[in-house]
Amino acid sequence: MASPNPTSPKGRTALVLGGGLAGALAAYELAPYVDSVTVVDRGHRHGPGAGPAPDEPALMLHAAGARALERLHPGILDELVAAGAHRLGMTTDMAVLTLRGWLAHGCEGGFVITCSRDLARRVVRGRTLGQANITVLENTEAVSLTGDAYVLTGAVVRDRATGRMRRLDAQIVVDATGRGKGVTRRISELGLPPVPVDSLDGGIAYATRTFRLAPHIAAGRPAVHIQPDPSNDSRGGTLLPVEGDRWIATLVGMRGTEPPLDEAGFMKYAARLRDPALVELLAGAEPLGPVHGRQSLVNRRVHLKWLPRVPKGLVLLGEAETCFNPVYGYGASTTAMATLALRRGLARYGTGDKLTPRVRRDIAKATMGAWGTSSPGERRHPGTVATMRPGRAALAVMRVLGRYSDRVLRAGTSRPAATRALVDIITLSRTPAALLAPSVVLAALRGPDEGAQGTTPPPAAAGRAVAPPHPRGLDRGGLQGRTPEASVVPGVPVVPGADERARQAH
Ligand SMILES: Cc1cc2nc3c(=O)[nH]c(=O)nc-3n(C[C@H](O)[C@H](O)[C@H](O)COP(=O)(O)OP(=O)(O)OC[C@H]3O[C@@H](n4cnc5c(N)ncnc54)[C@H](O)[C@@H]3O)c2cc1C
Repeated sequence: MASPNPTSPKGRTALVLGGGLAGALAAYELAPYVDSVTVVDRGHRHGPGAGPAPDEPALMLHAAGARALERLHPGILDELVAAGAHRLGMTTDMAVLTLRGWLAHGCEGGFVITCSRDLARRVVRGRTLGQANITVLENTEAVSLTGDAYVLTGAVVRDRATGRMRRLDAQIVVDATGRGKGVTRRISELGLPPVPVDSLDGGIAYATRTFRLAPHIAAGRPAVHIQPDPSNDSRGGTLLPVEGDRWIATLVGMRGTEPPLDEAGFMKYAARLRDPALVELLAGAEPLGPVHGRQSLVNRRVHLKWLPRVPKGLVLLGEAETCFNPVYGYGASTTAMATLALRRGLARYGTGDKLTPRVRRDIAKATMGAWGTSSPGERRHPGTVATMRPGRAALAVMRVLGRYSDRVLRAGTSRPAATRALVDIITLSRTPAALLAPSVVLAALRGPDEGAQGTTPPPAAAGRAVAPPHPRGLDRGGLQGRTPEASVVPGVPVVPGADERARQAH
């Protein structure tokens, strides 16, 4: 926990709306600086006996997010691993299929932590919400914010069991209610214009199912991550290990390619991904439950800074601030990184007037890289409805850098410098500027190493024999002849900050 700034005036209270990962992390950071923190959550998953939600995909925490979480709560990664989470090297243990082929196997350094979302929630809550001055109100819904366009004074909440409304006063309100529309509605209701939102509604849908893999396949720890190509075929998927020898397969599609929720349809869809690795790994697997899923998820980034003014005291954290297509697994990672920004702000400004404007700015910075990495591809999906579009200049730069990143992706199938940079960017460990390092530029210029077997899933990870590499370093999806524009890909940042410069289309 951050040490409280002795100059912070006490007699202050904080309110956290939403008790998910973001809300729990925020409450813990605020606790030393205020007399009391109230966490309001409309669900009741927090108490003893609250079980996991049945339809949740595995949680993948990327290296930078894992390191941020460890800084916030030293020892938490060991605790997760001791409870059954897995630490997978990318690409030593986990195979990644980008739009231009499988990243070369054996890249050291990048990693992800995988576990069930329920385990992550339990461990984080266990370390956060038990503080003496934190109160959790479950089954209680935030209805509206109180105050005005200049200063927040708290929120009105409703007890869902009794319907009783009441007002909770606070000088700091962290809205961590997740990806719903309530967050922007509540802000506008303070007398402000509609909140500018960069929304990419590609009709994201996912289907997920838990399996026990055939023993000979499980022995190879065959985690795979097949990135979607939203500009063309938006199907993607992951197969990730979680606690108790269980593996969670998650299939993700966008409008027009939504994965079905019936058992036969699930396997058929898995077989139609850009590579059969995932469905092959499920051969002989024992399903441990039905297929679950959700539809109509939206990528969204809320831009409070474009409002004429933002009320003092307001901070958005987690998916309330930016939410991503779940296939990239960026939400929890960026939430941890953004919470570090909250910690730094509290240490520097206490609960003073500068706190919330500075923290909002720093949270936006913390989540910008992941947004820049994941959103360009989503924009290109023909079915995506976007509320903002990049300006002409940004589009031109995006095209040029897109072609360049395409070359890096091809090189990443076999040239270590390119693979390493891509892994670092995908795991949020380095900024997109890593693509411009001389060794990466050289790798991109040289192109894929024709003699290397970089275009098939790594054998240790994929649990099957390596097929001979395809000519010219192309993957089996037959990417030859695609238009250069298709090279603007998810999983690789194209124009750092281009989306930030996007302007409201209407
Ligand atoms: C399908 C899916 C898969 C994902 N996979 C990954 C992954 O692999 N890796 C990764 O890093 N991230 C992933 N994420 C994102 C990640 O889970 C979240 O970004 C992270 O947990 C932070 O979430 P949050 O706390 O902001 O929101 P949530 O977890 O949604 O929590 C919001 C909380 O607010 C409560 N709430 C909502 N409205 C109100 C209200 N009006 N009043 C009171 N309470 C309210 C809800 O009950 C909930 O408890 C995934 C997300 C989804 C949807």
